[in-house]
Amino acid sequence: MHADIVIIGGGLIGLAIAHRLAGDGADVCLIEAGQPGAGTTSAAAGMLCPGFELAHFAAEKQESFHRFAMASLAGWREMAPALAEATGIHIDLRMSGALGLAANEKELAGFSTLAGRLSDFGRRPVMLSRDELDQLQPGLHERFRGALYLADEGQVDPRLAATSMVAACEAMGVRIIGQTNVTGLDKEGDRVTAVTTGDGERVAAGQVIAAAGLASRNFWLEPGPAPFFSIKGQALSLAAGAAGLACVIRTSGTYLCPKADGRLVVGATEERDIETLTTDEDRLDSLYEGAAAIAPGLKECAVTGAWAGLRPTTPDRLPVIGRSLRVRNLIYAGGHHRNGILLAPATARLVAAIAGGAGNPALTAPDRFAG
Ligand code: FAD
Repeated sequence: MHADIVIIGGGLIGLAIAHRLAGDGADVCLIEAGQPGAGTTSAAAGMLCPGFELAHFAAEKQESFHRFAMASLAGWREMAPALAEATGIHIDLRMSGALGLAANEKELAGFSTLAGRLSDFGRRPVMLSRDELDQLQPGLHERFRGALYLADEGQVDPRLAATSMVAACEAMGVRIIGQTNVTGLDKEGDRVTAVTTGDGERVAAGQVIAAAGLASRNFWLEPGPAPFFSIKGQALSLAAGAAGLACVIRTSGTYLCPKADGRLVVGATEERDIETLTTDEDRLDSLYEGAAAIAPGLKECAVTGAWAGLRPTTPDRLPVIGRSLRVRNLIYAGGHHRNGILLAPATARLVAAIAGGAGNPALTAPDRFAG
């Protein structure tokens, strides 16, 4: 078999890339070890919060990250109706805003600084007093003093998005090969000629894109060690349809993400270098208590699910998106840490540009960790 472009990995990153490239008319084959969308993608809450995520990055990278993430948010707005029209699957994109709750003066000051920074980037952050907060979102714990409200942030359902993208990709002629592990890259000189699979198959490739989440480290051919490591996240869901929560709600330790089907996703732990997908009761209890400490009414809500996922992370918490410096037709797209859902559309657009000959941007360049 041959394809102009072979994508390794069918998480939301690999699927978004396949969708984009197929839309541009490329001949694409995507190979997925399990079921598309069933990796870390299926564990995500689906928050699309460029502003609130800013604090996770070094100051000098915040503006570039923000620009990239806002472009991705715009990408989701374009993609959701197009996916619904092409596949009939609605991906629960809801731009109903995000609230950051402050429990004390220090947190209020932190949000105020963030609001100033976002204003500099052309955003319209709103600081809410406690009375204004109650009007926007009743039912929150009395300990909160105020909040930062970003009306243009929101969320999507990652599982529905993956399902919809699989259908859209197949309709556009992408060959998706599931339950097939890519085990190696065949090389000649400074080019990959084919990927090989655990079944002994060989798929010849014009270009190869390593979008295998944490497992992208297995395809790292640059000098120095692969920069990817795992930060495990555990989360749970509550039957909270009646709790009246309307938007994404974030505090320093917990977030709440209400879904259209009545589930409330409560997240999430951060556990470095633990690569098991088990959940443990103590951590889930803390998440449950964290949720009730945001909205006491949630104590009445039953737990409907609990799960874990491995965030593919890099030292600066930014993804690696760029062409290999050693292998001319290999492109990396991995390491999206806690923002892979948010950044999927912009990642796909960037990979398409790089596959078409554009250079690597400094923000996500594969060689930025060298030395
Ligand atoms: P994955 O979804 O893991 O996909 C990689 C795929 O590659 C897998 O399906 C795997 O089977 C396949 N693969 C691996 N090895 C091979 C191989 N050798 N051959 C073929 N296929 C292979 N992000 C947000 O933006 N917003 C959120 O609210 C959010 N919440 C999160 C909450 C939790 C609890 C967790 C754990 C993560 C969260 N994230 C969130 C992060 C987000 O889930 C990830 O950044 C994103 O899913 C990464 O997507 P991916 O496609 O790179 O990886």
